[in-house]
Amino acid sequence: PAGPRTLLALNWKMNKTPTEARAWGRELAGEYRRGKAEVAVMAPAISLYGLKEALPGGVDIGGQDVSAHESGAYTGEISAAMLRDAECTYVIVGHSERREYHGETDAAVAAKARQAQAHGLTPIVCVGEGLDVRERGEHVAYTLAQLRGSLEGVDERVVVAYEPVWAIGTGRTATAGDAEELAAAIRGALRERYGDLADGLRVLYGGSVKPDNVASICGQPNVNGALVGGASLGVGDVLGMLAAL
Ligand code: PEP
Repeated sequence: PAGPRTLLALNWKMNKTPTEARAWGRELAGEYRRGKAEVAVMAPAISLYGLKEALPGGVDIGGQDVSAHESGAYTGEISAAMLRDAECTYVIVGHSERREYHGETDAAVAAKARQAQAHGLTPIVCVGEGLDVRERGEHVAYTLAQLRGSLEGVDERVVVAYEPVWAIGTGRTATAGDAEELAAAIRGALRERYGDLADGLRVLYGGSVKPDNVASICGQPNVNGALVGGASLGVGDVLGMLAAL
């Protein structure tokens, strides 16, 4: 059966000013052809405004984090309603950098995902083990426990990204087999939770994805796309990944 369309989710992290972001969007628009994969650009909050118009038609945008709160006295935070107003479709929640540097727990991640859904955003919920867990051989159990905690009260309008922390920004990519092992396990957990709807949900892989490995990873039966950091910054790499898919 045909699974969901492949999603190439680009995570710029703390890169690109508003001006640079719009220039990037126009550069992509010059060469982009709609293909097999959908594309979404997760930009810094301040660089989202006006980005959708600069990008080619059909390319979505999203935030990299969202507040669990509705509005009010939360200095520095960005609400789901703000992201929606800036034309976001997606928002990343629980990226390993947020979990590590900002102490986000599974419960906090779930609260953000619920808040995103309440405003019509699709959360991209990130999970994945560190090197120590992988070396102990506990990566499946660890990741599924993290997933269950991060999906508490979250409905099926969700994307899950499996990102082994040891493969993020390190140049060390999990093998296509490693990606499929966890994607299949995640699919099983989603099926327990959402029933047959799980077959239509996207499970992404993230961790040093680039033009020369994107096809083999996204070609795995349970992998429906990639979350890409480093290789998302240059238009050439993005076009290269799209051409490879
Ligand atoms: C990420 O930050 O989600 C990521 C996968 O980064 P990179 O592609 O640079 O490993």
